[in-house]
Amino acid sequence: MEAYYRATRAEISLDALRVNLTAFRQAIPEGMLLMASVKANAYGHGAVGIAREAEAFGVDYMGVAFLDEAIQLRQAGITKPILVLGYVPAAGLAVARDYDITIALFRYDILEAAAALPENGKQLAVHIKIDSGMGRLGMLPGLEAERFIERALTVKQLRVEGLFTHYSKADELDKAYTEQQYERFNGVVDYVRNNALPISLFHAANSATGIDTPNWGHGMLRLGIGMYGLYPSAQVNQKEIALEPVMSLKTAVAMTKTAPEHWGISYGARYVTSGQERIGTLPIGYADGFSRMLSGKAEALVRGTRVPILGTICMDQCMIALDPAEQGGVQVQADEEVVIMGRQGDEVITADDIADKLGTINYEVTCMLAARVPRVFV
Ligand code: PLP
Repeated sequence: MEAYYRATRAEISLDALRVNLTAFRQAIPEGMLLMASVKANAYGHGAVGIAREAEAFGVDYMGVAFLDEAIQLRQAGITKPILVLGYVPAAGLAVARDYDITIALFRYDILEAAAALPENGKQLAVHIKIDSGMGRLGMLPGLEAERFIERALTVKQLRVEGLFTHYSKADELDKAYTEQQYERFNGVVDYVRNNALPISLFHAANSATGIDTPNWGHGMLRLGIGMYGLYPSAQVNQKEIALEPVMSLKTAVAMTKTAPEHWGISYGARYVTSGQERIGTLPIGYADGFSRMLSGKAEALVRGTRVPILGTICMDQCMIALDPAEQGGVQVQADEEVVIMGRQGDEVITADDIADKLGTINYEVTCMLAARVPRVFV
């Protein structure tokens, strides 16, 4: 195990990861493949560590956003198929082929660049992306998609393995728009099937689809947020599947002091003591991904008690209130554990709690965790 000389760390529970993967495996239709979405450093959890565990678990595919993320996984020894869900420029095509990395295809010029690759006995595997109503990447259903598929199938350098789409509102209660997207995508799938085109894998599901409407996922669930133990929204049927958060963010008290009355705490002295107050300084700040926008809003757990963050969150540090009365009359000491996100005793601070305070979603909270915070796999 690597040594770290700071208390702040993200603990990544591989037990929780396995619980979540198992829960989804059991929830989705028999035979549906499972992709572990490990893009964005596995939503902040550490891409290589998560991918290794997902591979050992037996997922069928890895999903990333960019070719560089896929290469990182190959260089770390990941052997499962990897799909780059996002844009790969023409300059990356030969590299993707060399590393056996599958790419999403949705542009004619990239298709023609692939057709111009020198042949070397290997084919570049591609999944054609259909925009069924996300309005992001992909060919539009109908003639545009059909012509593109037909052309791709004539290119010797390519192996067209899959066809996929992405739902934009699968995490909402009202499924009418998702149904419309499902039907548009089905139109393209039917075209492939009716013309006996040699494409075998169709996929459309994200976590929300896996929870609420797995039958609209076709052949593979691209599992992201749910694998990390978080629900895609408050509107999905959370009772359908029990998840365990994988990430906890912990630190320890760097210094305690009793500040005098009317003492300013942190930049701008936005918090001023109203009497003598015990203050704890924590070695975590916005450069760790503990956003300055949480100043005056965030809480932490010490000895199983919720305490407020006082004043402005600094780049590397922030301060908390230490109240001996609430903490059983025993003064919290330097080096004691503090939980920023996760459980301590009976109390818990969730990624959703933090997201609500920031006006964002749990996805962004874990993705925000900075590179300098060690990910400790437990
Ligand atoms: N598929 C695509 C194309 C995505 O962009 C994402 C994530 O944003 C996912 C699947 C996984 O989604 P989720 O994290 O909601 O499961």
